[in-house]
Amino acid sequence: MRSIISTLVLSALVLAQGSPGVPSVEELITIDSLAAPLEFLSSDAMEGRGVGSRGDRLARDYIATTLRMFGCNGGMSDGSFQQPVPIVGIRSALDAPVTLVGPKGSLVARSPEEFTLWAARPDAQSIWREAEVVFIGYGIVAPEFQWDDYKGCDLAGKIALVMNNDPSTDPTLFAGSTRLYYGRWSYKYEETARRGAIGTIVIHTTPSAGYPFQVIQAGNGQEHFFLPFSGRPALPINAWCSEDAAKALCVLGGHDLEVLRAAAEKRDFKPVPLGVRASTTLNNTVREVQSGNVVARLEGSDPTLKAQHVVVSAHFDHLGIGQEKSGDSIYNGALDNASGCAAMLALARAVTALPVRPKRSIIFTSVTAEESGLLGSEYFANNLPMPVKSIVGNYNIDGINIWGRTKDLAMVGYGKNSLTALAAEVAARRGRVFEADPEGDKGLFYRSDHFNFARVGIPCAYFKSGSDFIEDGEKRRRVKQAYTTFHYHQPSDQMDARWRLDGAVEDTRLMLECLLRTANDAAVPTWTAGDEFEKAR
Ligand SMILES: [Zn+2]
Repeated sequence: MRSIISTLVLSALVLAQGSPGVPSVEELITIDSLAAPLEFLSSDAMEGRGVGSRGDRLARDYIATTLRMFGCNGGMSDGSFQQPVPIVGIRSALDAPVTLVGPKGSLVARSPEEFTLWAARPDAQSIWREAEVVFIGYGIVAPEFQWDDYKGCDLAGKIALVMNNDPSTDPTLFAGSTRLYYGRWSYKYEETARRGAIGTIVIHTTPSAGYPFQVIQAGNGQEHFFLPFSGRPALPINAWCSEDAAKALCVLGGHDLEVLRAAAEKRDFKPVPLGVRASTTLNNTVREVQSGNVVARLEGSDPTLKAQHVVVSAHFDHLGIGQEKSGDSIYNGALDNASGCAAMLALARAVTALPVRPKRSIIFTSVTAEESGLLGSEYFANNLPMPVKSIVGNYNIDGINIWGRTKDLAMVGYGKNSLTALAAEVAARRGRVFEADPEGDKGLFYRSDHFNFARVGIPCAYFKSGSDFIEDGEKRRRVKQAYTTFHYHQPSDQMDARWRLDGAVEDTRLMLECLLRTANDAAVPTWTAGDEFEKAR
């Protein structure tokens, strides 16, 4: 009896910070508990954890082994810790360069500096043969905003030239400067494929993409990955072009990109056939590869609520070995996302150390092929080992704070569901300033795995590091900005002696409290009324 009472007392105190003599489990989240797995997963030995590679398998085995050691069970129905994920790999090589011909002249584009292209269907060859290019504005059809950029335009056999992002001149439309899924390039490829296009060229601008063209270029010649093609529409060729290349293309047809873009801001926009024809040929190597998601389950302690789940996710994959930059060809993906895996493991270590488990069950999943189009999480969300309705919420971790303690902490998708209010309450009690993602216009909500949970209706939370640094504010803010410009998706995303994980310790502890509240509170998370994902729940 005594032990039961002391257990109950303990469980009430576990999160109380600094209760004398009672270690709180959050104290298990330390700089070293984050740094050790981070260092291992991002080491050169893991070869950048490319999809289907040896590093992929090693990373999965390491994460699964660690979760098992902490006391989790296998999360698949057969008790296994891994869900096999079949993936199709396609590597495209340019056989004939992109040639553009119009009434005002012709040009041969440079690849990948001006045009970066890859096959998005498992064809041996992908060909554009003097195919007509049509400017389709933002390429959005959104009945709820009475918006249709296509106006019945037939794209069969044609190439769409499309702007990234969504219209933002009217703040009442498309959530103003906060991006909806309509603004994502992946949406543009999907929508134009449904309409029979043979290729789609997204016009790159750094503000609309959130990263410079070199990030796209870095993917040139790399293998692209897809879930098995089961009759879903896909484009023969996906492409990006630089803004200058798009201007030059328009000029060949006697058009001005600025004028076209201005027209596309309005509801009455109609697709513009540019009078330009494009040709190119890609030779493709297609293969099937096997990857997998790590899925571990910590069973809840409440006899009824344990049938419900909270999912913590962090992708383990990165870009593998690729184009050499400054003598380095291993894309270690230390911040992206060895760091998130480390934070997930730190959370698992803390949760499994609780004297009484949380009421609801917790699933820790480390998913594959995030960098290849969020494939692992899409596969998981559509092949769940438990009913989708039993999952009450998702906390996704993709990157942590490596720059030092901050007063603030942001949430991507702020206010979309009730996990925002919960996090705000927890943050306030911890003396943190909690805010919306200051870069909501980059569409980060659609750029990591929580998006696939949202798509099946699961309320999700994705925290983003703050930028109000407690020490050396100006300098650290600069270093943080430099990450996106110089290291994001480059071989130089590797651990560095200058990294400061004290801020990540605070953020992860805060996340632990949110996670436990979600696993224990009577009320389950809900979408904000009218949110784009409410219908899916
Ligand atoms: Zn990532």
